[in-house]
Parts: sequence; structure tokens; C-alpha cells
Amino acid sequence: MWRKGLILLTIVVIGLVAVIYWSYSGAIVRLPVDAKVVALTFDDGPNPPHTEALLKLLAEHDVKATFFLKGSHVEAFPDTARMVARADHEVANHSYSHKPMISLQRESMQEEIVRTGELIDTHLELDYSPRLFRPPYGIQGPGVKRAIDELGMISILMSDHGSDWEVTDPALIAEAVLKSVEPGAIILLHDGHGDVDDPYRQDSRAPTVEATGIIIQSLKSRGYDFVTVSELLAR
Ligand SMILES: [Zn+2]
Repeated sequence: MWRKGLILLTIVVIGLVAVIYWSYSGAIVRLPVDAKVVALTFDDGPNPPHTEALLKLLAEHDVKATFFLKGSHVEAFPDTARMVARADHEVANHSYSHKPMISLQRESMQEEIVRTGELIDTHLELDYSPRLFRPPYGIQGPGVKRAIDELGMISILMSDHGSDWEVTDPALIAEAVLKSVEPGAIILLHDGHGDVDDPYRQDSRAPTVEATGIIIQSLKSRGYDFVTVSELLAR
């Protein structure tokens, strides 16, 4: 009897692993390139005035990044979102409400992506419709994978992050990123707060802005260049 139970349990575990593996297939974590290039990505904005501070810093260092915008924030702060686009940073989609996508019905998953895409198209006057999507919290299930595929989006995850959702010391945020960066890295940082619903009640992102300056200086001194995620994909 216990053997049958064990066989059944093994089948269930293998099935679960297969489903999780399939859910993340096609999602980009890092690009295996030889050149010393990395992509800086910023999630959960636009979030004034911290997004503006970040844009100023990136301009000072002549670095282009990729911003995964939250639809509800584009709606609240279209001018700041436009500043991101006009500074020639890449704009990408990070859902409308930032709910974990696996908690939603299938139609709502698609709606989160489509609504954000429409807001970006309406307010940002880009010459492209963003095809890059990062699921909130990086969580993907089979339904999320299907929604992304059906909409012709590409899922972008991350290879390195600074834990800037809990660490507030800029030096420690930078250190967490810098310790493991390799060519082709996709670095996750935040100019907003995904888990705070009210766009007008966002906390400071000053530590992330300061950490970004440290990261850029350190990687430049090691011979790294900065590219957008689409530029990385094109390699
Ligand atoms: Zn987020």
C-alpha cells in the first residue's frame, strides 16, 4: 500500500516540477554574452520625485536603463512617465495594479498587461509598443505564461538585485548587486514601491538612487557598459 502512495507522490512531485519549469520557460534571467555589458532595470514607477532624481543621475553618467512601469502610476503621473521616455530610456510593462498575477483570473491577467500597454501608448508617445513584461514579484504560473505568450510579450526576470525593498543603506544595496554581476546581467532595482497601492503614498527611493550612482561608477571602472534590455536581447 505504501508503495502505491510513494509512486503517486513521486508522480505528483514530477508533475509539479514540470509545470513550474514550463511556467518559467521563455522568461529571460540573464543574456549569455561575452561583452562586458549589463542592463539596469527599475520597477514600480513612475514615482515622483524619486524617478526624476534617478533620471538626473542616469543623465549625468550618460547611462540608459529600462523602466518597468506600473500602469496605475502611469495613470497618476503621466508627466513623469513621459520624462522617462523622452530621456530615451526603454519603457516596459509591469502590470496595472501590481497584484501577484497567479492570484488573478485568466482574463484579469491579460487585462493587467493590456491596460498598462494602452496607458503607455496613450501618454508616452513612443514609436514602439512595449513588448517586455516583468510579472510583479517575478512570480509566474502556467496561466501567467499563457497570458504573456498570447499577447506576444517577453517575460524579463533578473539575475541580480540589491534587495532595495528591505535594505535602506545605499552601500549595502550596491554591494549586493556588485558581488555577483557578470556580463549580460539584468539588474533589478526600484524607483517605486509595488506593494503600496496608493501612488501618492510612496516612500522615498533616495537610497536606491544613491546606490545606483555607486553601481554605475564601480561597473564603469571595471570596464562595463550599460545597455537597455532590448539592446541586450539584440546581442
Ligand atoms: Zn514590482
